Amino acid sequence: MMFEKIVIANRGEIALRILRACKELGIKTVAIHSQADADLLHVLLADESVCIGPAPATESYLNVPAIISAAEITDAMAIHPGYGFLAENAEFAERVESSGFVFIGPTPETIRLMGDKVSAIKAMQDSGVPCVPGSDGPLSDNDQENLAIAKRITYPIIIKAAGGGGGKGMRVVHGEATLLNNIGLARSEAKANFGNGTIYMEKFLDNPRHIEVQVLGDGKGNAIYLGERDCSMQRRHQKVVEEAPAPGITPEERRKIGECCVKACEKINYRGAGTFEFLYQDGNFYFIEMNTRIQVEHPVTELITGVDLIKEQIRIAAGLPLSYKQGDIQLRGHAIECRINAEDPKSFIPSPGTIQVFHAPGGPGIRIDTHIYGGYKVPPFYDSMIGKLIAFGDSRDIALRRMKNALDEIVVEGIKTNVPLHKEIMSDANFTKGGTNIHYLEKELLSKN
Ligand code: ADP
Repeated sequence: MMFEKIVIANRGEIALRILRACKELGIKTVAIHSQADADLLHVLLADESVCIGPAPATESYLNVPAIISAAEITDAMAIHPGYGFLAENAEFAERVESSGFVFIGPTPETIRLMGDKVSAIKAMQDSGVPCVPGSDGPLSDNDQENLAIAKRITYPIIIKAAGGGGGKGMRVVHGEATLLNNIGLARSEAKANFGNGTIYMEKFLDNPRHIEVQVLGDGKGNAIYLGERDCSMQRRHQKVVEEAPAPGITPEERRKIGECCVKACEKINYRGAGTFEFLYQDGNFYFIEMNTRIQVEHPVTELITGVDLIKEQIRIAAGLPLSYKQGDIQLRGHAIECRINAEDPKSFIPSPGTIQVFHAPGGPGIRIDTHIYGGYKVPPFYDSMIGKLIAFGDSRDIALRRMKNALDEIVVEGIKTNVPLHKEIMSDANFTKGGTNIHYLEKELLSKN
C-alpha cells in the first residue's frame, strides 16, 4: 500500500527532488527545516512544514528526536533521508522504525554492514565482488605485522578509516620509512573525525577511474543494475562532474560487473537504491565501498535509463515489487552532470549570500535540479552545492555540446559559483576524449591555472 504522507528529512535540491517524486505519486509531503532554511523552495511547496531547530545541522538536520517528533505531529507514514545528514546512519534508521515509521532506505543491518568499510569489503569478497588488494581486515597495533602487510601489497599504499566518508581521512604512503608514523596519525584522525579508530590498508592505484554501479533491490532477494556512472572528475576525493555511461566501457564489461553487484545484493536481500563504487584500472574493477542511499549524481542514470530512482525508492519502501526487470533496462544516449557550487572557482572558498539574479538554462536535453531562485539567500551553514546541471543527448558529443550551451546560458548573480571551472572542464581536450582518471582534475587541469 502506498504512503499517504512522507517526511522529507533533508534540505536543498534533493529535498525538492523528493518532493517532486512524492507529488507525482500523489503522496502528501512534510518539509522539515532549520531556522535558517524557512525560505527553501521545497518548504514553500510542501503540504506542511515543521521547523526542527536552529541553523547548525547538529541541532536540526541531525537532530533525531526533533525529526521523529515532526513525523509524529504530522501523522506521516515514512521518512526519506535524501543523501548526507542521517541517510547512512543505522541508529537513525532503527529509531525511525522503532517509532512506527518506514525508513525509505535499506535495513539498519545493511546500513551498518556497509557503513563499516572493513565489513563491507569482507561481505563483497564473500559474494565474489573484486576488491582492491589490501589488509583484508582492520590493522592491529603490531608494527611488524603492518610493515609486512604493506610489503605484501607493495607501495604506494593508502590508509583508510573504516568509518570514513566524504573523501576524508585517507593517507597515501610511498615507502616503509613513513608507514608507522602515518598509521599512528591515521588512527587518531579516524578516532577524532569518525568516532572509530579502526583503519585498514589498500594498494594505492596510481591512475584509476572512479566507476560506480547503480542498483535497486526489493529487500526480498530480487535486484537489478542500471548501468554505471563515471565520476573520475574529482577534487579532494569529491566528485565535480559525473556522466553515464562511462566512456569506453564495453557492454560485456558492464554486464559482468552489473551481474556481480546484483548477485551481492541478492545475497544480502538488499532493499532500496544503492551504489557500488569501484576504481577501474587496466580493464579491472576494484570495489572500494557501497553507498546505501540515493546519490547526488543519480540523474545521469535516470536520463539514460528512463527510470525515476526516487519513485522506485519510495515504491520499494512501501513494499511494492520493482517496476522493472533486468531485461527492461535499456541504456539510451549519454548524460553529463555538473555540480554547481556556491564557491570561488579558483580558491574554492565557499561564497554564501543573496542570489540577485538567477536565469536557468533550457532547451532539448537540459535538466536542472536546483532549489535556488532570484532573491534566495544561500546560507553559510551547509554544503556549498546549490544545484546540478544535467545534459542529455543521443551521443556523448551532443550531451557535451548541450552542456556547454547551458553553461553559457546560466546566470547566477550575487554570489560566486564554479561555472567557470565547468566551462573549462567541458572544453578540455582530454575530458572531451573521455576516460580521464581521478587525478586528472587536480594534477593537470587545476595545476595549469
Ligand atoms: P569516501 O567514502 O570518503 O568517499 P572512498 O573509499 O569512496 O571514500 O574513496 C573516495 C575517493 O578516494 C575515490 O573515488 C578515489 O578517488 C580515492 N581512493 C580511494 N581508495 C583509493 C585507492 N585504493 N587508490 C587510489 N585512490 C583511492
